[in-house]
Amino acid sequence: MVETLITSEVDFEAEGQQSGFLRVPHSVDRSAYGWLPVPITILRNGVGPTLIISAGVHGDEYEGQIAVAELADELAVEDVRGRLILLPMLNAPAAKEGRRVSSIDDGNLNRLYPGDPKGTPSEMIAHYHEEVLLPLADYAVDLHSGGASLSYPATLLRGPGHTPEEEAGLRKLTEAFDLPYAWVFTSGGGRNSTARTAMGAANRKGIINVMAELGGGNAITPEILAMTRRGLRRILHALGMFPNYVPDAPRGSRLLHSRGSIYVYETGLFEPLRGIGDPVSTGEVVALIHHPETPGREPDEISSPFDGIVLALRSLAQVRRGDAIFQIAEDAG
Ligand SMILES: [Zn+2]
Repeated sequence: MVETLITSEVDFEAEGQQSGFLRVPHSVDRSAYGWLPVPITILRNGVGPTLIISAGVHGDEYEGQIAVAELADELAVEDVRGRLILLPMLNAPAAKEGRRVSSIDDGNLNRLYPGDPKGTPSEMIAHYHEEVLLPLADYAVDLHSGGASLSYPATLLRGPGHTPEEEAGLRKLTEAFDLPYAWVFTSGGGRNSTARTAMGAANRKGIINVMAELGGGNAITPEILAMTRRGLRRILHALGMFPNYVPDAPRGSRLLHSRGSIYVYETGLFEPLRGIGDPVSTGEVVALIHHPETPGREPDEISSPFDGIVLALRSLAQVRRGDAIFQIAEDAG
């Protein structure tokens, strides 16, 4: 038995459809014996793989939260093969507030794995995800976006694939999700991963897993939400878990490797001169940092240290030293 203080209202082994909450104990002034509710739905029908789809690891990333909650409502258990575990708001306290970090404990869940079974609520959730939920899974999909501070196009993220089987599984998930971009990591992953992310947790458990960045800017992008809905159903179908679904024609993904981020060193207001998907070249001025508080001060010019295209863009105008304003990627291969 894994040591945990979290209890589940759903039975992971039972056939059929169940919804309820993971109960994260939280004893406070107004609720001495209280718990924080993390919503969970399980659909289990006969033989097939186990897939965990999570969203709301960061609470200000919304497309995934909607798409996963909808799946829980719309799928009928008789349409499913195997076991589907849906977690639409994994860091529920942060998601209820629309924040990246939880106000309860300042927990940034995707920097807390492998967590702590006796730690803060966010640490307990990380531990439960890694040690109780993920060991049940064959496949995992974790849905993010740029949150409040960044904007991404619909982009799948995947590791390098350490074995032929892992590579084939990752390729199957990538092709099934069929997002416009796929950011393929060139290193990391595997069972020895030390990443503090949910992806790192899934890799440590040997699970074929991908994540996705789906918009951002603290808003919902309808086209990206539509791609998310479509992609999740396509994944279920590709894994043999949704046999009666008829996928439409694939659109294809542009495979990218990340070059790195562009950072600012001066406080000011960020004016992007390039947008998502735009090409940039080394030395090219890609942003201005304005200083309206200082009459006569010229804006700082920020030039790209990389060739590539803009993958992510900061969505907040105010910047300070150390803030990333762009992520630049290049075509893979
Ligand atoms: Zn995130």
